[in-house]
Amino acid sequence: MVLAQRFPQGLWPLFAAFACSGGLTLYALALAHTNHTPVLWLANGALIGWMVQRPLRETWPVLVAGFLGYFLAKLCLAEPLVPTLLAGPCHALETVIVSESIRRRFPQLSARTRFIDLGRVGIVAALASSALCTLILMTILQRWSQPGLLMGLNTVFRAHLVGMVIAGSTSLLLVNRTFRQITPYQRWPLVRDLSLLTIVTVGAFVEARVPIAFMIYPPLLWLVFRHRFVGMVIGMAIVALVITLVTTLSIGPFNLVAGVTPAFRVAMAQVFIGVSCFVALPVALALSEQDRLRNRIRESELRYRMLADHSGDLVMRIRVDGHRMYVSPSVKELLGWEVDDFQDPRPDLIHPDDRDRIAAEVVKLRSHGGTTTTYRLRHKDGHYLWIEAFARLVPSPDNDGTMDIIYTGRDVTERVHFEQALLESQAQLRTVTDNVPAVIARIDLSERYTYINRFVEQVSGEDPAAMIGKTMREVRGAALYEHLKQYLERAYAGESVLFEYEATYGGKLLHFQAHYVPDRGAEGRINGIYALTTDITHIKHTERELLRLAHQDALTDLANRRYFSERMPIVLKHAQQRNMPVLLAVVDIDHFKTINDTYGHAIGDAVLAEAGHCLQRLVREGEVVARIGGDEFVVLCNDIDNAKQAKAFIHSLWERLHMTIDAGGTPVNVKMSIGAALCKHESSADTLMKHADDALYMAKEAGRDTYRFVVHGFDDDEAPHLQRA
Ligand code: GH3
Ligand code: MG
Repeated sequence: MVLAQRFPQGLWPLFAAFACSGGLTLYALALAHTNHTPVLWLANGALIGWMVQRPLRETWPVLVAGFLGYFLAKLCLAEPLVPTLLAGPCHALETVIVSESIRRRFPQLSARTRFIDLGRVGIVAALASSALCTLILMTILQRWSQPGLLMGLNTVFRAHLVGMVIAGSTSLLLVNRTFRQITPYQRWPLVRDLSLLTIVTVGAFVEARVPIAFMIYPPLLWLVFRHRFVGMVIGMAIVALVITLVTTLSIGPFNLVAGVTPAFRVAMAQVFIGVSCFVALPVALALSEQDRLRNRIRESELRYRMLADHSGDLVMRIRVDGHRMYVSPSVKELLGWEVDDFQDPRPDLIHPDDRDRIAAEVVKLRSHGGTTTTYRLRHKDGHYLWIEAFARLVPSPDNDGTMDIIYTGRDVTERVHFEQALLESQAQLRTVTDNVPAVIARIDLSERYTYINRFVEQVSGEDPAAMIGKTMREVRGAALYEHLKQYLERAYAGESVLFEYEATYGGKLLHFQAHYVPDRGAEGRINGIYALTTDITHIKHTERELLRLAHQDALTDLANRRYFSERMPIVLKHAQQRNMPVLLAVVDIDHFKTINDTYGHAIGDAVLAEAGHCLQRLVREGEVVARIGGDEFVVLCNDIDNAKQAKAFIHSLWERLHMTIDAGGTPVNVKMSIGAALCKHESSADTLMKHADDALYMAKEAGRDTYRFVVHGFDDDEAPHLQRA
């Protein structure tokens, strides 16, 4: 046995092949010699069992061992050497054709092999190989033996075909593990049924007075029904051996036929064996195939049953009347209940709030054939679990034409709680975003709004729900969109963009600050943008007011020193570019301290205010007038191109600045001194200021209530030095 397990290295198969081939050759030749005709050639088929297991390059030693057995048997019976040697490869060819045909089609014989296909391939290969082998054999033997070619072809072909079918299937059965499926429980019934067949066959064929050969069919078919392929193969082997032996010994029903040659009787025996084979074989194959399919169904049922039994989900098969045909053991783990507690419907376990919904789902299940829902079931401990249930209507496996419900329930409590928390947080987020004093929007890659908060209503009066799905162009209008597009494109490119823009809503010009931020997905890919837009109109107004206040003198409403300082360099530069002179006049109220001291600070303020208004009236548009200190004002002009004109302007200014203020019924005469400088090619504000200050000093020195006018940067002939005497 150890040797047999090490096949093909082991010698056991070689001995077996040698012995089988030799013994069966002896048996076949003994029968043939007795009848002078070939009866049954079993030797070739006996090797099939080993040959189908591996490729020819590995199993050829079996073939050689078989040949040696055949050769020795032939020598024992003193067969002629040359035809024996020539016929040897021919027998080997027959074996190889059948074994290779089976092996190529079924590389691995197993319990899953389709027996019907195996039988079909085996029989076709046996027919083809027997025909080819017979033809070659008879062509060779033609030179040494007497029988005619056709006669020889006929008998040899039958002997080979029947022998191949019987010995081939027997050796497959005995050698290949797949076919040795007999359990100890089947062994004795098999021996009993084989014994019955043997007794009936021997009885029917030894009994020589009445032709009752057909008697063998009941026990043969019984064997096939009870023991399938195994019963058929061993049974047919017994039938073949008994019939060939009995016929060769000239007894049995075929000897009742008078006036026929022994060869004809052999032919009848061969045909009978062949017919018996072709009666039993399809039945055996069909039954084996049925067994195979049944096993597969059982296996798959077992597999699914195992899946259901070990699934963490609750699996149930429910009859339409509500009775549970199957409840998976997971019910204990999932809901704490025993399987027995779940045999009948348990509507009491459904959460009261979900019962109506579940009733509606059951109606839907019956009309649609399936439904999916999530509901609460009570655990044995009393708490509720969220169960996601799938239910389908399927034809009942009981084949009674009714429909069963296959129910699968899964614990999704954690997921539902998570979803609820998510919804809550989304609602919170929405509350927050809706109340943020800014428009928050999300815009997808096709520039459509996918989200916008409620604040947009307050800004533009638009309904946020109506904006969802619309493009930015549709919502903002073509003109504004064209302006915003550049920022949108930058944000789509991955940049975080902060910018300001203006837009008119409801006839009001509003100022906005917008922040476009790319919306990146989990993989960093940009899926859209978030736009945060703040209405900064009031800030802009405040900013402007602050700017105005920063540049204005509160008492006189004139520009202040700061504005004047910022403005003067610009005016100078502008004048230089145009090659024009600049006139700066510094106006200072004479003895203002005395006015303050005499009439009070309020009157002083009134004097300052009136002086400011007066100056404002006297200057032209584009000229700058400012209060740069306590009682000191300036006038800056850049549209006077000659000294004469400038002096005339200063003179008229001085004249018109004489005013009388009512100080609580007392008239107060106010007088001014003016220092004016007309400068050309002057780029320094300080220098210009100094020239004007110097001129004012001169005016004050000259006794006040006068003006002094100086000119700088002109050619001598262009502007003679002018100053008021
Ligand atoms: P002078 O003729 O040389 O100009 O003499 P003055 O008295 O006018 O002297 P100066 O111009 O130097 O004095 C300006 C005064 O103006 C000093 C300060 O008390 C007063 N003053 C400054 N700002 C204000 C103000 O806002 N309101 C009032 N009522 N007086 C102011
Ligand atoms: Mg003064």
